[in-house]
Amino acid sequence: MSSPLVVAIDGTSGSGKSSTSRGVADRLGLRYLDTGAMFRAMTCWMLAQGVDVHDPAAVAARCDEPEIVSGTDPLAPTITVDGADVAVAIRSDDVNAAVSPVSAVPEVRARLLRLQRDVIASDGGIVVEGRDIGSVVVPDAPVKVYLSADPSARAIRRAAEQGGADVEATQASLLARDRIDSGRATAPLVMADGAVHIDTTPYSLDEVIGLVVGLVEAAEART
Ligand code: C5P
Repeated sequence: MSSPLVVAIDGTSGSGKSSTSRGVADRLGLRYLDTGAMFRAMTCWMLAQGVDVHDPAAVAARCDEPEIVSGTDPLAPTITVDGADVAVAIRSDDVNAAVSPVSAVPEVRARLLRLQRDVIASDGGIVVEGRDIGSVVVPDAPVKVYLSADPSARAIRRAAEQGGADVEATQASLLARDRIDSGRATAPLVMADGAVHIDTTPYSLDEVIGLVVGLVEAAEART
């Protein structure tokens, strides 16, 4: 029996990864894993515990403690920490500002890598989105996509998602996260070997979903 399909979708903040990944999973009847939500959940817990998120040793010392559980229905993804629903809390400005430093801590990445691989291996095909999915988490994924978009297009989309947040401040926050995510030593944001790059700027969401579904169908036809 062939192994279940994994579609790896990486890219910068606000490039359309989440909407695209959920749309592709829904169209193809696959599960969906938002690894960014797991890093956000870890960050949310650190902030709630009063851990200094800019002290890598302090973060490393506590990162095995929270129980982080991701639900994989693309139409209703869930995320809990120690049993509490944190879907709203993980999108706060405080978490936006702290998530990249927390995600740069190698012990955090090692812990969440184990959790991510458990979810991926558990039950059938899956679309996984993040920053290091095609390069580190599932380097042998048969379909790897790298999404990018113009910074201003990303900020406009993300601010609209947040109910009309300030576009300039949103763009500054996205670019700050990109800088840390791309520059960190462990599992930086890179375009993975074998990934197909899609600049989503000129496309509608439906068009991007269609492009990725086309890549999956082409990969399946080859096997
Ligand atoms: O995807 P999202 O913007 O929600 O991710 C939030 C942050 O989580 C990213 O800016 C990055 O610091 C971290 N992240 C990561 N590796 C992943 C997914 C997210 O470092 N695979």
